[in-house]
Amino acid sequence: MDKFLKVIKKLYWLGFIGLIGTFTHIRFLEYFYLFFILGIVDFILSLAIITKYEDDNDNEDIINLKFLFQNLGMLFGIPIIYIKNLFRLPNVKSYKPEVLYSLPFEGKWLVANGGIDKTNSHSWGVCNQRYAYDFYILENEKSFKGDGRKVTNYNCYEEPILSPADGIVVEIKNLFNDTPIPEVQEAICACSDIRGNYIVIKHSENEYSTIAHIKKDSFCVNVGENIKRGQKIALCGNSGNTSEPHIHFQIQQGKNFLLSASLPISFIDIKNIPYQEERQFISRGQFIESQIE
Ligand SMILES: [Zn+2]
Repeated sequence: MDKFLKVIKKLYWLGFIGLIGTFTHIRFLEYFYLFFILGIVDFILSLAIITKYEDDNDNEDIINLKFLFQNLGMLFGIPIIYIKNLFRLPNVKSYKPEVLYSLPFEGKWLVANGGIDKTNSHSWGVCNQRYAYDFYILENEKSFKGDGRKVTNYNCYEEPILSPADGIVVEIKNLFNDTPIPEVQEAICACSDIRGNYIVIKHSENEYSTIAHIKKDSFCVNVGENIKRGQKIALCGNSGNTSEPHIHFQIQQGKNFLLSASLPISFIDIKNIPYQEERQFISRGQFIESQIE
């Protein structure tokens, strides 16, 4: 089937000869437009392949195909999120939180990425991750010891991840090995899902957390389990689209990562952050320390 797909992928480019026919008024060349139908066949076959293959650490074609489809999903998800929210995406002033969250770890970490405004946002334009955060541990101004070439060199690697509030586990993905540390500091993805291994927890009717880049086989909770705030759920890893081990944490409107707006997170239990109307907000560059021990 893969070979068949490869041939089709090349053939549908012949459809462009139809354009030459249209411009030069050579009628028979316009029949080449029919080759574009193969593009639809390719799309459907690709969909069939990515839904058939789940465990995909080895097959690079499948990895690339799934990665492509996730990116397409992200692109098409954006207008759907806007429509679902009647073109008024939640923001820190308008959104009334249903749950107040604790940090998903113990000890002192750095907000490496993320905030409640456009300037500090994890990715403002990508509205399913607008209010996401990336956290890691900085010691002596470095996030790693030694030469930083191995994931195990990093301060936060294998640190426990804690549930940010009470909830029920609704999804876990535990498939991917750690992404190797790249030569230059840039985010790369060694698997088909930018989140790598992740967990989704339902905290209330309209608030779900996603925690990503988790270490494979480190989950200590299961789908369907009721969990408590501060309960250990897994270990920090480097799976998915990352430049180094860190925790990606976000709150979203629904279970579906691609079709749910990201929500501004109201924290409690952070030692060094002032309260604004009984909640705390954090931003890129701040060192934060959890009160939960
Ligand atoms: Zn992130």
